[in-house]
Amino acid sequence: MTLSERDKKHNWHPYTQHKTAQPSIAIVKGDGALLWDENGKEYIDAIASWWVNPYGHSNKVIADAIYKQLTTLEHVLFGGFTHEPAVLLSEKLMEILPNNQKKIFYSDNGSTAVEIALKATMQFFYNKGEKRTKIIAFENAFHGDTFGAMAASGISFFTEAFKGSLIDIVRIPVPIAGNESKSIQALEKVLTTNECAAFIFEPLVQGAAGMVMYDAEVLDVMIALCKDNNVFTIADEVMTGFGKTGKNFACDYLVQNPDMMCLSKALTGGTIPMAVTTFTQEIFDGFYDDDVNKALFHGHTFTANPTGCAAALASISLLQTREMQDNIQRINQQHLKFQNQIKDNPKVKTTRVLGVIFALEIKTENEESYYGDFRNKCYNFFIENGIVLRPVGNIVYILPPYIISDTQLEKVYLTIERALEIV
Ligand SMILES: *Cc1c(COP(=O)(O)O)cnc(C)c1O
Repeated sequence: MTLSERDKKHNWHPYTQHKTAQPSIAIVKGDGALLWDENGKEYIDAIASWWVNPYGHSNKVIADAIYKQLTTLEHVLFGGFTHEPAVLLSEKLMEILPNNQKKIFYSDNGSTAVEIALKATMQFFYNKGEKRTKIIAFENAFHGDTFGAMAASGISFFTEAFKGSLIDIVRIPVPIAGNESKSIQALEKVLTTNECAAFIFEPLVQGAAGMVMYDAEVLDVMIALCKDNNVFTIADEVMTGFGKTGKNFACDYLVQNPDMMCLSKALTGGTIPMAVTTFTQEIFDGFYDDDVNKALFHGHTFTANPTGCAAALASISLLQTREMQDNIQRINQQHLKFQNQIKDNPKVKTTRVLGVIFALEIKTENEESYYGDFRNKCYNFFIENGIVLRPVGNIVYILPPYIISDTQLEKVYLTIERALEIV
């Protein structure tokens, strides 16, 4: 039996209707931007394995750092203990984060990073005896799949079954071009209620919604409005962090700084599950008290796992190399060229580019559902042609590892052009 066949027996896959899904492709090796399945077929990983892998698969630098850490101190509890990798990583993050971020809380994945931010804002006000329990979020947002993160997410069929069990979210429109004033007005209206603890957003790019983009200027206005109304802002940079938008963080395009940031995905270069939630001193001080009950009672067994921290340190050092920064610019230039070449194609509705992110909306007769037939037809075409791309409805996007070569990128573009001919 093949791995793919054996997989079916016990493995339950994410976002998968197993009755209709095709067998999962068994990948046996990864190197750079390439993956190989058990039959020897080669694929270009054009979405960096769900946006986690900027420096390439099986990266030697990160692997060495992990090995070294594993054979020195693989793990120690973070309650009452600390260790060098966590100290170094927090110091390193301080160097690259917006300068109002002062405290780091470690966890394991993007959803928990969001969960911690939401819990911290709600308890901050509780500790002060203020009743602020609602959270403001964008329509079509994606912040993860645990209960708090899921509540903040606005992709309806992900959360439909849990409607009655979710925290209170006030949803406002995304300020895409043309919608800015509508979005700002909706925020202003919500802020007058004084019931909201925080505003959570994916800065500049809504990933799971299909790389929906909006401008830094309007987000600056919105953050400033929140500040004026004592509502905290949470920048969920789980997807956008570590160079994806062309700068280290999407927030680097802003004048205003958010109060909190959530980071994961590329943090460890796609090796060890790890996340951080970062805070201003003000938020930390809201828990700092002689009363033990005012502490943030949240933690995970693997909080600040030393091996994860070592992987993150190696990853950030890679990000900071000239070579990687040049790669990011190079991919951006190639995307812009491709955008220019494809934008007038009669099948193309819109295109957008930011940093290494490219998105193309295909013209279709009906509105295409997230996992509908149209999407599956495109997905299968890409897989047949050895390209890993996962369209969202009628939106095809590329978010490649930064080390992808021009030739590989060219093949991705060509395959997208060919896909437009068959859909
Ligand atoms: C992927 C993602 C999450 C959730 O991260 P997980 O590690 O899958 O839990 C949260 N926010 C954003 C913006 C994401 O892209």
